[in-house]
Amino acid sequence: MSDRPVVTRIAPSPTGSMHIGTARTALFNWLYAKHTGGKFLLRIEDTDRERSTEAAVQVIFDGLKWLGLEADEEPVFQFARAARHREVAEALLANGGAYRDYMTAEELEAERERARAEGRVVRSPWRDADPATYPDRPFAVRLKSPLQGETVIDDQVKGPVTFQNSQLDDLIILRSDGTPTYNLAVVVDDHDMGVTHVIRGDDHLANAARQTLIYQGMDWATPTWAHLPLIHGPDGAKLSKRHGAQAVSEFDDMGYLPEAMRNYLAKLGWGHGDDEIFSDEQAIAWFDIKDVVGAPARLDWAKLNHLNNHY
Ligand code: GLU
Repeated sequence: MSDRPVVTRIAPSPTGSMHIGTARTALFNWLYAKHTGGKFLLRIEDTDRERSTEAAVQVIFDGLKWLGLEADEEPVFQFARAARHREVAEALLANGGAYRDYMTAEELEAERERARAEGRVVRSPWRDADPATYPDRPFAVRLKSPLQGETVIDDQVKGPVTFQNSQLDDLIILRSDGTPTYNLAVVVDDHDMGVTHVIRGDDHLANAARQTLIYQGMDWATPTWAHLPLIHGPDGAKLSKRHGAQAVSEFDDMGYLPEAMRNYLAKLGWGHGDDEIFSDEQAIAWFDIKDVVGAPARLDWAKLNHLNNHY
């Protein structure tokens, strides 16, 4: 895996504005790709048809362009790849890595209740069923996850994070209407795009364990994981509109310069000694994902303003 050329990506969902958390994730992926002489790619995760909008796609394009973080290849649109996602689900069915789950909505609800009462995860009775007993009704496709052992995410930022397989239910990868689920789509796309390093927000850490099981089911190499801590507002709380959850485009309107933003965002969770001001060339030369700190970063307007005055 380590001798593959580095490919990173940013994979935003076009469901709203692009805020500085996404901008910082994009920057770290871009810096790491440039640092290693690799590629930085863009995937638009537009599988949620209700919430994804054309306008939000444009906001992402404009935001990355303004920040100077343009991808090295044409963007990939996830929804357009649904047939490929289904193909991989079929491959997993064929190799025994997945199974057809015929539970009806009522049966699933009853199993959920039992699982809750017994303090365990949902298990489908169809996991080991004989195909001769398959009923003639719609089915979901579930990943056949190991019941024992553990899945360890060797995270570049968090260190090793262990998940007990007994706590991971058999992930649905295709819904009964044939649509692929989020975790399947992400794995198939990352694999097909040749992504070697998945650098993203730590709200996706548990997904990394589930996604690892999909990689294993397909016998694909897992990427290197790096989950970034959140950016907090100046008050230490979650970002809010008043405290930094502005869209990237608003920073433009507020008079901030892209080079100042890049310098500032690089310092949200990463740094190089005491250096306050550095060029893109210096950041590219110095950046390593392993040096990102595990604690949440805090937005500091005074620092951003100071940098902006410098540029
Ligand atoms: N689409 C996801 C999001 O916007 C990111 C998924 C990923 O980076 O793997 O949170």
